[in-house]
Amino acid sequence: MEEELYNNIDKIAMEYYSINPKIIKISKIVTEEIQPIIRDIENIVEFNQLKVLEAMKRSFLSDYHLSDSTGYGYNDTGRETIDEIYKTIFRAEDALVRPQIISGTHAITLCLLGVLRPGDELLSATGTPYDTLKDVIHGDNCGSLKDFNIKYREADLIDGKPNYKAIKENINNNTKMIFIQRSRGYSLRPSLSTVEIKQLIEYIKSLKHDVICFVDNCYGEFVDTNEPIEVGADLCAGSLIKNPGGGIAPTGGYVVGKSELVKLCSDRLTAPGLDKNCGPSMSSNRLIAQGTFYAPLIVGEALKGAIFTSRIMEKMGFEVNPKYNEKRNDIVTAVMLGNKDALINFCKGIQKVGPVDSHVLPEPWAMPGYDHKVIMAGGSFIQGSSIELSADAPLREPYAVYIQGGLNLSHVKLGIMSGLQAMIDSK
Ligand SMILES: *Cc1c(COP(=O)(O)O)cnc(C)c1O
Repeated sequence: MEEELYNNIDKIAMEYYSINPKIIKISKIVTEEIQPIIRDIENIVEFNQLKVLEAMKRSFLSDYHLSDSTGYGYNDTGRETIDEIYKTIFRAEDALVRPQIISGTHAITLCLLGVLRPGDELLSATGTPYDTLKDVIHGDNCGSLKDFNIKYREADLIDGKPNYKAIKENINNNTKMIFIQRSRGYSLRPSLSTVEIKQLIEYIKSLKHDVICFVDNCYGEFVDTNEPIEVGADLCAGSLIKNPGGGIAPTGGYVVGKSELVKLCSDRLTAPGLDKNCGPSMSSNRLIAQGTFYAPLIVGEALKGAIFTSRIMEKMGFEVNPKYNEKRNDIVTAVMLGNKDALINFCKGIQKVGPVDSHVLPEPWAMPGYDHKVIMAGGSFIQGSSIELSADAPLREPYAVYIQGGLNLSHVKLGIMSGLQAMIDSK
């Protein structure tokens, strides 16, 4: 019976998606091999699921919270309850969760421009921040940190890890905020564990106790059993079309942290003095709440997919980062495909099995906020969602593709097999 089912699955993969039986065979071997690691992930999923449920119970999330507000959005108890839930999940003093925050970049920008003032300095403790922050920091005449005379310094990484000596050398009287990026983003450095973030923040605070430690938490939520605020961060931000939106939140971002800092971010999002009491939820309360409920499970599926991806790509002869049995601190897997054509073909293969736009061929384009052309494959329900299976790559050396997301392991497996097949077919 089981064998028959297996054969039927193979048939679909071969007939509908033209996957070579050899790739299907390797996929099966890899699936068996990664079982022990998958069990570890399931433990983290369960822990985080209980954490989320407890937060919902504690906030008395009710049916009437799941409806909408319009206009100014005053008295939106659903929005307020979702803020409470985030506060509890992230162990923060306050939270700002809004559909008006359109992306991770936007949420991070609120934290930088909301808190920093002319003459202040920002120091990145984790090297160059994610690509889209370049203009936020250095842009000309666009309301960047530079435009407001907020200075920026960078402590380069050493062997992919924070360089404590460089951090010390770059902290001065004007340093108001330290920027820490948890995930690798589009770079080949390893992501930081919450243990590493804790050590880093302890060190930074020993140099300057009142400096604000900010963590870019994009792709990091629910990957581990704790989050940045629990290990000493003062402020932390992320995107709802990544991990914490559970693939269901239609848009949005969040900021969590110290109350006075979250208030500053809120004033920056809307207008000075408006506080957190406004912002219409429109149709988002139910979707954001439900997405939060799903997030631990979905992040678990994305992690299982990531482990599968690392293992099979390594077996196929590619350098991968991280390796399948290394500890994960984000949902991203980088695979060095080595050249532009391989990269483009792999992305086309991923797109081919997407639930949406599977007939569309992704092409490299000059996406706003990025220096190089970027190719993005997805075929997601939510535009640009990268908690859904997606493969992105800036077209630059070493032609690494960054694969992340996947609402379920089966889809990731098919996607990776299809990507491999597309590379083989193009030869
Ligand atoms: C995705 C990402 C961002 C930016 O988020 P967008 O939603 O794409 O604007 C920032 N930092 C890191 C580490 C990311 O992975």
